[in-house]
Amino acid sequence: MSARVLIVDDLFPNLKLLETKLSMEYFGVVAAMNGPEALAICEKGLCDIVLLDVMMPGMDGFEVCRRLKTNPVTAHLPVVIVTALDEPSDRLRGLDAGADDFLTKPIDDTALFTRVRSLLRLKSVTDELRSRAMASRELGMGDPFALAAAETGQGARILLVEDRPNAADRMSTALSQHHTVTIEPDPHRALVAATEGTFDLALVSIDLDGFDGLRLCSQLRSLDRTRDMALIMVGEPHGMARLTRGLDFGVHDYLLRPVDRNELIARVRTQIRRRRFSETLRGAVQASIELAVTDELTGLHNRRYLDRQLGPLFGEATAQALGLACLILDIDRFKSINDTYGHEAGDEVLKAFADRVRQHTRGIDIVARFGGEEVVIVMPGATLADAQAAGERIRERMESAAFLVQRGATAITVTVSIGVAVRHVGDTSASDMLKRSDDALYRAKASGRNRVVAEAA
Ligand code: GH3
Ligand code: MG
Ligand code: MG
Repeated sequence: MSARVLIVDDLFPNLKLLETKLSMEYFGVVAAMNGPEALAICEKGLCDIVLLDVMMPGMDGFEVCRRLKTNPVTAHLPVVIVTALDEPSDRLRGLDAGADDFLTKPIDDTALFTRVRSLLRLKSVTDELRSRAMASRELGMGDPFALAAAETGQGARILLVEDRPNAADRMSTALSQHHTVTIEPDPHRALVAATEGTFDLALVSIDLDGFDGLRLCSQLRSLDRTRDMALIMVGEPHGMARLTRGLDFGVHDYLLRPVDRNELIARVRTQIRRRRFSETLRGAVQASIELAVTDELTGLHNRRYLDRQLGPLFGEATAQALGLACLILDIDRFKSINDTYGHEAGDEVLKAFADRVRQHTRGIDIVARFGGEEVVIVMPGATLADAQAAGERIRERMESAAFLVQRGATAITVTVSIGVAVRHVGDTSASDMLKRSDDALYRAKASGRNRVVAEAA
């Protein structure tokens, strides 16, 4: 489906004109004639980008923009403010309200399509992240969207690639209020600095003396180490064609000389916010992936992870006739620990128990919480004797040192019973092996606890 552009204008002829232009370029068009109507359309997710007229009766464009950008549901939508005159103060108010860009009437077609396309490209990247981050919110991990909408866009590390000392000085002074700026007049050194440093944003002059700044921009966009950096070009008004090429290959924004101080500050802030928005979402996605395979209390893998891994491990061991062993550990009389010290202390013991098990297993072993106070260890490549020895080591470690809980006030010693089994020729799945280790565990419990029992020969 092609992108849907929301046009907001109180004058019908203006709406019609823009609608015709955009439809001819195969954009879908949605129209609103006032602010509240526009907000409702955006909240319902019916558009991908907003072209917003400033002068409207009632709620003006600045206010609409501000509301869109502070609402977590709509903050990700790119907003282009359309002003009647090329009024620097209007542009600034727009950027202050969080607008991503602006156009002046009469609207130049090239500028319109360039802006819309480049903003839509950026949005498609964040949309993917947004849908995945949604899962993390559903898992109750806090709201990454609210966090991202609250981002101020300050405190960034900025690389300024500019060889005109005066311009560099002016831009650096303006930005240093809220950011840390490094000036690098040499493009080659700038590339090295960008790959080795931890910059959030690069501002690059595209008319450096004897060097094509666009080339640097394209390198920064293509290198793994730098492609997540926000990137803004600085160029002359008559060099618009080259700036457009830059936007086409992924530069995020541009500034025209002479650079207006406030516009500089506002555009940098917008890009920083956008970048941090993506980072927050990416972090949420990562966390939800980890959460899906990790047991929250102990930090061990969860049962779901174990179930997913066991099949392939079993298949591989069977195909290559390799060893595969499995231990089930169950804390002895754990219920009485809860009864004596309380459930919270019980949790602390469980956590410490899990840590100690992890310390005494190899990196390639899978250690997962199987149920309440039961842990399963799967040992690829291990024989029954290997697994028994590993079990005995863990059993001995538990018995020999108490866990300090309740902020060190209480020392609790636990013992553990362990059942051990290996894959047999003829097993149809890993659960055959698991079943045998569970039987062995039962016998360990029945024969007095605090012992390792191997499956019956
Ligand atoms: P046995 O030696 O036969 O294994 O005795 P047990 O008391 O350890 O075994 P039982 O299965 O009767 O009790 C297990 C207890 O573990 C009961 C349950 O309340 C407790 N438990 C399970 N999950 C948790 C947990 O996440 N935190 C705490 N604190 N206790 C838990
Ligand atoms: Mg138990
Ligand atoms: Mg149990």
